Amino acid sequence: MEYTEAKVKDIFVDFLKGYKDEKNELKYRIQVSQLPGTTSRSLIVDYSDLEGYDTDLATSLVNEPDLFLSSFDDAAVETLDIENPVYADKIRKELRVRLRDLSDRVSLRGVTKNELNKLILVAGMVTRTSELRPLAVNAAFRCFNGHITFIEQTGSGTTLKRPIKCETEGCGETKNFELDDLKTEFIDFQVIKVQEMPEELPPGQLPQSFDVNLTGDIVNSARPGDRVFLTGIVKAESENIGGYSRKLFNSRIEANYVEQISKRSEEQQVSREEEDAIKTLAALPGAYDRLVASVAPAIFGHELHKEAALLLMVGSPQKTLPDGSTLRGDINILLVGDPGTAKSELLKYVARVAPRGLFTSGRGSTAAGLTAAVVKEKNGMMMLEAGATVLADLGVACIDEFDKMRDEDRSALHEVMEQQTVSVAKGGIIATLNARTSILAAANPVDGKYDPYKNILENVALPVPLLTRFDLIFIIRDEADQAMDESVARHILDMRAKSSFPTAPPIEFELLKKYIIYVKRLDPELTEEARNRLSSYYIKLRREASPEQISVTPRWLEGMIRLSIARARILLHPRVTEDDALHAVNLIDRMLRTVAVDQSTKKVDVGVLYNKPISEKGLREAALDVFKTLTGESKQPVEDKVFYEEIAKTGKFTREQAEKVFQDMWKSGVIYEVRAHFFKKT
Ligand code: ADP
Ligand code: MG
Repeated sequence: MEYTEAKVKDIFVDFLKGYKDEKNELKYRIQVSQLPGTTSRSLIVDYSDLEGYDTDLATSLVNEPDLFLSSFDDAAVETLDIENPVYADKIRKELRVRLRDLSDRVSLRGVTKNELNKLILVAGMVTRTSELRPLAVNAAFRCFNGHITFIEQTGSGTTLKRPIKCETEGCGETKNFELDDLKTEFIDFQVIKVQEMPEELPPGQLPQSFDVNLTGDIVNSARPGDRVFLTGIVKAESENIGGYSRKLFNSRIEANYVEQISKRSEEQQVSREEEDAIKTLAALPGAYDRLVASVAPAIFGHELHKEAALLLMVGSPQKTLPDGSTLRGDINILLVGDPGTAKSELLKYVARVAPRGLFTSGRGSTAAGLTAAVVKEKNGMMMLEAGATVLADLGVACIDEFDKMRDEDRSALHEVMEQQTVSVAKGGIIATLNARTSILAAANPVDGKYDPYKNILENVALPVPLLTRFDLIFIIRDEADQAMDESVARHILDMRAKSSFPTAPPIEFELLKKYIIYVKRLDPELTEEARNRLSSYYIKLRREASPEQISVTPRWLEGMIRLSIARARILLHPRVTEDDALHAVNLIDRMLRTVAVDQSTKKVDVGVLYNKPISEKGLREAALDVFKTLTGESKQPVEDKVFYEEIAKTGKFTREQAEKVFQDMWKSGVIYEVRAHFFKKT
């Protein structure tokens, strides 16, 4: 059919006035009548409704959106005019018809020249958003003689279109024009960047991204880290360099509608049959072990780490208290270990199987790194860019080479791991982004290999406050053990030879993925027995720690609660059982017996995680005594060299220990430097 603007408008007015939904309600008529009570300037139309009403019109809209959408907007104003002419007049210029749920979705990777100037639907992750700026849409120019000429700023160029000639009859001015900013019409304008979602990315490919223009009332409808469906028109934009446009164009999407992808739509991916399969699996004897054995079947052994990873992927629900504060439900785990022990392999697997999983390196590949950054675009706009933990909001961030992270991230990560937000205040942008993510991190030892004779903090270059925000920490050591070596070798060789897993995982990849999505919606209740188990273990830990130590903090108890709830979810327990609690206690206990062992006494001492082992306490006191003797009555400064010599005479210290104790005293502010190499007690 041949469509004219007037015809399109008439058909669409009829549609808005007469369309009845399944409840026999005048769906769009109602929406139009509700506009005056809101700040909305959008009329949101389901594409399928239009398709059902007039297939031909709907198809033509997709092919020639510019022509059709402006007629649609006119139709919307005309419909509103019947209801409320005063209001229609007020928002005449701003009212937009926005389309959701187009019948076909294109991947960002699939956007080619064939999509240019077409209306498309894409899904993606918002990685950047700019500040808001006013954009001139109808510029008023005042000529030398004071007449005004309006020039509509259409098209994709970035430069302001100027009049060629004053429009006032008899004036004829062609050169001297000045912009009148009071008479010029502006709209709100924002640029966001949308990137392919990791789960839709073909393996081994770099994600494709697009700049998207948002105008009018849809600005600020998405934040960095959000996942969105986006309806828009693909435009080719010429780049202007030194006043010349180039042959090579940039593509950009002009957004028509932005809609958040909800968690719920992900949950709907689990079908009835899958739900039945999941329930059957969970009821089998040994279900938990089967599930653990299904995690990363390419990796031999590592059952403990696989169990921990499974619990992390499932997590526990976040709780909001009556005063609005929240209790973190996500579990954070750190793996420290020798190279070549499949740490990276496990992280990559988790990023693939966990919903909203993301794999990244501590070094980060963007300016935003692990948290967020403010960057300046070529066009001078300030952009807020989301880093890995924000992009993995409501999911799992697998961070490899965690010890190599940048200093900015090191300090900003405390907030992520406790408050689960990232705050930014830079370059005029002030924002708090959500980072409700679980962190599975892997770090390499400082000396390349884990030194079993040293405590964890000497093995891994991470600050104490970060370390203590992990619910579980594991040390993975590559020990020569012939039986184990043979098993790993056979496992790897078999996989190569047969291109399959030596022993098939009890639950295959796709179902495990669905399993995790499914159980994440459960909210098991803590029983009295489970509570007793957890609290008695916690109190035992507190009692065993020496009285002047505060190392065992309530954080440990919170960690155990999260782990036991995750385990209950996995087995579809409506209530957290004593057995679930015992599993959590067991994991914490296994960790303490490795990570928290003070290598100088070979005893479990949680203090080593805080760089305050009991064994060093005696040393610190001895060192302080020596220092006091050296300063004497007159309180003169002590030279470090002299201190080391003196301290060696006590016979309690090696030179290394003496230096360490001295550094600790300095760092903790017990002593301070008066001039180079000379110290005084504070
Ligand atoms: P890391 O990150 O700990 O340095 P990687 O994950 O890069 O180690 O592992 C190195 C290689 O060794 C990978 O190809 C991995 O599959 C293999 N590998 C190491 N340990 C195992 C294991 N237990 N089972 C199977 N493959 C293993
Ligand atoms: Mg690695």
